[in-house]
Formats: sequence, structure tokens, C-alpha cells
Amino acid sequence: MIMLMPSRPHQRLAILGSTGSIGTQTLDIVDQHPNEFSVKVLTANGSMELLEKQVHQYRPEAVCLVDETKADALKKKMKGSVHVLSGYAGLNEAARWENADTIVQALVGNIGMKPTIEAIHARKKIALANKETLVSAGAVVMPLVKKHHIDLTPIDSEHSAIFQCLKGENVNEVTRLIITCSGGPFRGKTLNQLEGVTREQALNHPTWKMGGKITIDSATLMNKGFEVNEAMWLYDIPAEKIDVVVHPQSIIHSMVEFTDGSIMAQVGHHDMRIPIQYALTHPSHIKLNVPPFDFVKAKQFTFEQPDVKTFDCLQMGLDAAREKGTVCCVLNAANDTCVESFLKNEIEFLDIQRTIREVVSRHKNNKHPSFEDVLHADAWARKEAQKIMRELKTKRK
Ligand code: MG
Repeated sequence: MIMLMPSRPHQRLAILGSTGSIGTQTLDIVDQHPNEFSVKVLTANGSMELLEKQVHQYRPEAVCLVDETKADALKKKMKGSVHVLSGYAGLNEAARWENADTIVQALVGNIGMKPTIEAIHARKKIALANKETLVSAGAVVMPLVKKHHIDLTPIDSEHSAIFQCLKGENVNEVTRLIITCSGGPFRGKTLNQLEGVTREQALNHPTWKMGGKITIDSATLMNKGFEVNEAMWLYDIPAEKIDVVVHPQSIIHSMVEFTDGSIMAQVGHHDMRIPIQYALTHPSHIKLNVPPFDFVKAKQFTFEQPDVKTFDCLQMGLDAAREKGTVCCVLNAANDTCVESFLKNEIEFLDIQRTIREVVSRHKNNKHPSFEDVLHADAWARKEAQKIMRELKTKRK
């Protein structure tokens, strides 16, 4: 008997962060499936030119530029042909836009927290790339997701892998999540060797092509620390049951171990369009123009223990996942601040982990924070990180 699959409903997208790496790859998926998706809202931080091009191509109802001066300029140019929103308030409005039913949340850093909460309250389906939202505010966001029965699906490749391995399984039978890690561009380096590495070296990721901030987080291994937190919140699995293993080929995207010792793995090209598309179309896998995976060419998969002594950011991420509370947000906000400074060549690579370690050590953890407590911790950590970075500079003079 031939089973005909029911067709999926057409999805009207709001892409928050449409000019970034995840945003542009989402639009590539839209191009491949014009019957599946249409674009209702696009937002960008300050990339006005690219946003303008996207407006002409996708004809959304609304756009938002967080940079208010640029939003004003765009408004003048558009002459009312598209609704132009601005600032953080504009992002929140974009997240609850009435004519969009699915939000692709691809913002960078803690600024994603509020729009995610807005999207939940507006009962949107959420494809989440912005892991910082769960790291900082998982304790606030996940109860809301459950309460309102929101379909919140990760875009992060490791979490998409776990999501796929858990399909149809009983989470009570899971003994361990095994998150794989490429090791980043500095795998195998000692602390001494990391002194003075440049921004360009840190931005040169061996396997994944991503935006600047996440590429630096991958070089410090903070990204992996965040991903343990993200998995803990998404799958309600204690941090103690989540392992990290270095797998330099980035072909096994993550694994789930069950009580009988059986291990499920999700494997494939390191192409972010695969998890982006699956977050939108699950439980269906639909066509995507990727070449077949060649196991013979790949030759071998190898594994190593992560070096948490050299890469202190991973250790801090693991500690935060075990502790929970405002320390997770502090870690995230301090990291946001330090990575921004590193990308502007204001601090050295190792200053990132030194500064964050100091901010975390000065913080008094609140184990059960409200959203206001999280926002307060966020602002405190940013100020503190700035102060410590200044202190480090003065000491060196
Ligand atoms: Mg990832």
C-alpha cells in the first residue's frame, strides 16, 4: 500500500538576524522550497545594504534594524513599501509579528532572550539558533515553552543531532548525551602557544563556516560549554549526564546513549543548512541540495578528551551547567563583552578566559532567578568585564 504523507502547512517566516550566517542560509532554504516557505519579517543589527537587497528579493511585510540611525535612513529609502521597525523594541515586535507563524531566531548573544520570550507569548513555532538565550535564561524560557506547548527546535547542529537521535525514544531510558566538538583552530595547543594568537587565526575554524562571534566561541571552547547548558535545558537532562568528546572531523554531530548500551549518532556533512531545514520541517526530512556523503573519502573518525585546563572557558561552561542560576548569564554576558573586544583587537585571546574567570569569581550566584534577576546579572557582568579588561591593560603598560 502506498502511504501518502499529508502535506505540511506553508510556513510564514520571521527571520531574526537575516543578514548573518544562519539567516542567509535560511534564505537559501527558502529559495529551494518556495512552496514551503514565505518571508514576512527580516531583521538585522546594522547591515543595511544586505537587508535592503533581501527586502527587494523576498518582499517581507516588515523589517527591523537594531541600529536606529540606519533604520531611519532605510525608512526614507523604502518610502512606505515595507514597515520599518527599529531598536530592541522593534526586534520584540518582529518576534510577535501577527502574519508570521514561525520564528527563525538567529540573533547573537544575550539580546535574543527577550524576543524569544515575546515569540513564546505570541505562540509562535521557534527554530532556535541563538543558544545564548537558553544558556542565560533557560530556567525562565523552558517552563514557558512547556506551559504554552511551543514547538521550539534547535538549529545548533549538535542539538539537532540529539533531537533526531531522540525521535520516538523515551528520554527516561537515556543514560548519556555525548556532544562532539571539533576542538577549534587551536586544538592541541598549550597555554604558552596561545599567548599572542591573532584574531585572524582564531577566526580560521577548521571545519565549520560560521559568524564571527560563534567562531571565536569555538576557538575558546566556550561554545561547547554553552552547548552543554543548551542540551541540559532542551532535553531536561542533568549536566552530569552530558559528556563532551573532541571529534576533529565534525561528521558525527552528537550521540545519545541508552540504558542497554545502545548508542544513536547523527552523522553527515558539516553544513548548517541541514539542521536549519530540519528545525523547520521536522518530523519530515525534505530534499536539500547537498552531495551524498562519501564515507570512503572520510576514511576515519577520531576522538580525544577535551583539554579543559588550557581551554578554561569549557571548564567554566561545565561548572555553570552544574551550578545553574545567574552564573550562567554572567558567564554569557562576560563572554559577549570580551569577544566583542577581541574582535576589535582590543584584548588578547587569553584575556577572554582570564576576564571571564575573574567576573565569575566576583559573582554571587542566585540559584533560582526571575527574568529580572537574569537581566540584572547580565548588566552587572558586562560592566564588570569592561572594568577587568581595563585593569588588565593598565597592568601591562
Ligand atoms: Mg554547535
